[in-house]
Amino acid sequence: MEKLRVLHVDVGGCEGCNVSILRAYPKLIDVIELNMKYLMNRECDYSEYEIAIITGGVCMNEPSTVEKLKEIRKHAHTIIAFGSCATFGGILRFCRGGQEPRPDHRNFQPINNVIKVDYSIPGCPPTPQMLQSFFKYFISGDERRLRIFKVCSEIKKLSGFDLIDDIVLPGLCIGCGACELSCPTNAIKLIDKRPNIIQEKCIRCGTCYIRCPRASQLLCMGGG
Ligand code: SF4
Ligand code: SF4
Repeated sequence: MEKLRVLHVDVGGCEGCNVSILRAYPKLIDVIELNMKYLMNRECDYSEYEIAIITGGVCMNEPSTVEKLKEIRKHAHTIIAFGSCATFGGILRFCRGGQEPRPDHRNFQPINNVIKVDYSIPGCPPTPQMLQSFFKYFISGDERRLRIFKVCSEIKKLSGFDLIDDIVLPGLCIGCGACELSCPTNAIKLIDKRPNIIQEKCIRCGTCYIRCPRASQLLCMGGG
């Protein structure tokens, strides 16, 4: 089988997602050819790539990044937003500029605020296994398992507050603890088998929502 030509583009973040992609690659090397800045050091012609993985949130104060994304969209048939900043804005939503050397960078948005995204893989960062599973389902055309990534590509924000609103308050929570275990900042604590949020710790990564069996079911049924 011919390998899929995949381009990775990082538009700004902490590099955690990039490390996750690198860690996923050894098990994907037979099915994708990945152009990533850590693996190749050559100028990139976007038209050579059928799939683009975007990491990081897009800075709306940086027109060149917005244009770059639009250019990539023109060529790639599939765009994947990888990580919570790219998917939902995540912690980058809290940037208020003021830092040298980029004092004006104060408005970061998820990728789907600028271009159409086909699939989103949230997580802070997502595990390497998430990307490996994604490509397994993508290559085999397993639409049912791809559904959660497709649904996420159409959502612009998701956080622990939505989990409380959509699952806990309506009485849908089964007390499994998956939300607490998956939170990267320990912003969720189960009390009497029900999640409570430490508000100032929530970085709006949406991971708890996606890992919650009741919430992900709700999303895939179109009720989120
Ligand atoms: S509660 Fe935790 S997992 Fe959920 S959105 Fe906030 S930081 Fe992310
Ligand atoms: S993951 Fe969902 S069902 Fe499980 S404890 Fe958290 S909110 Fe409740």
